[in-house]
Amino acid sequence: MFSWKGILFAFFLLSCNVWAQEAFIVRFNLNEGIKSYLRANQLDVAGVNYNTNEIEAILTPEEFEQLSAQKSAMIKFSFPQNLAMAPDEEYKNPDEVTEFINEIHQRYPDITSLKVVGKTLEGRDIFAIKISDNPESDEQEPAVLVNGMHHAREVMTPEITTDMIEYLVTNYNVKDEVTKWVNNTEIWVLPMLNLDGNNKMWTSNSMWRKNTRGGYGVDINRNYPTGWNSCNGSSSYQGAQDYRGTSPASEPETQAMMNLVGSIKPVFNISYHSYSEIVIYPFGCKPRKTPTTEAVELIGGEVAQKLNYIPGTAWELLYNADGGDIDWMYTEHQVIPFVIEVNSTSEGFHPKYSTWRDKTVERNRPGWMHLLGRLNGPALSGVVNLSEYETVKIYSPGTTKLLQTYKINPDGSFFIILKTGTYDFSFEGSKQKKLSNVEIASKVNVNF
Ligand SMILES: [Zn+2]
Repeated sequence: MFSWKGILFAFFLLSCNVWAQEAFIVRFNLNEGIKSYLRANQLDVAGVNYNTNEIEAILTPEEFEQLSAQKSAMIKFSFPQNLAMAPDEEYKNPDEVTEFINEIHQRYPDITSLKVVGKTLEGRDIFAIKISDNPESDEQEPAVLVNGMHHAREVMTPEITTDMIEYLVTNYNVKDEVTKWVNNTEIWVLPMLNLDGNNKMWTSNSMWRKNTRGGYGVDINRNYPTGWNSCNGSSSYQGAQDYRGTSPASEPETQAMMNLVGSIKPVFNISYHSYSEIVIYPFGCKPRKTPTTEAVELIGGEVAQKLNYIPGTAWELLYNADGGDIDWMYTEHQVIPFVIEVNSTSEGFHPKYSTWRDKTVERNRPGWMHLLGRLNGPALSGVVNLSEYETVKIYSPGTTKLLQTYKINPDGSFFIILKTGTYDFSFEGSKQKKLSNVEIASKVNVNF
């Protein structure tokens, strides 16, 4: 015999035509209660919307049945009718992304170089492209990294990264600003990290998120070593969408990103995800607030303002997340890193290409542009002899209040993003050199 809940459930499923689906999107009113319910039951949170106060999760029919039995009186929910569950075929697949960057390199060999930074589990090459003048040499210029698609179903993210590549190469020697960025920066773009997962998304499961390890998959963005498995911000269950893997950095895709970051030492990073229209900075675990580097929260706020997105940490805006790339980049390589979640709950993972692709990539340009431009803002940069100096300590002027310790890069270069202000700097190693009362209102260059 059917209960009224069962009948209601069947009605919902029928009305949404989800019988044929393996999973479907459920939209809830956003509050702490529902956030912890979704987390505690390891449900697949897809995105939030702080304008409408909604949160969406991908549920299997079984998960939904369980939810409605347990929580029907407490949770308001609805099925978003307008969200496509399958990707528009115009979005790029792994082969098309690889073809795209090879073609760009052939057309613009003077300002690009390609690097295979690793291989996926299934043996696909993971490409990164460097855009800079004299791209084959290390000119000790500051590096900026932008990467797309840790998560297979987030099909808009390689569109953003490939749009950035195309914009920079086609506007070099056309727009002054672009020419300066390319000449004075090493711009690295890794357009698509999770090539295997994306292939699986196109061929067998449109809501696939992880890589393809063992058929169950590992969430690459819960697999980085910093804070791995530290705050219930990932799962030990292979079937979970945020399965962290058996050990830190167990996955070749994670290792590929780590090798790239370690070799180029970027000043800034953006990792593109979808969806939520938010800008996330470290740290992912409650209650760790922002990093000691003041510029992280400041610049995250600026980027969010440029995009009209909401800034914050993962645990403030979404949920605890451990083993994510940005916490590792900040902690191990002093990168100022952001996750940008593009598109809103009305667009979802698979917005219609013709309506949303151009709109989204154009809306997001001011985000990465802000970071390229910010390299000319308040900072202390230069090159020193590494055998003499290893670290730079930054103090409030005339005090012993240590604000930040910066490790000089392996090539002797340093690029310390700062808030406008006056600082004391102490370069330390086998020698020591102090710079007192240095006013940082724009980029200050020192070499010794
Ligand atoms: Zn994601």
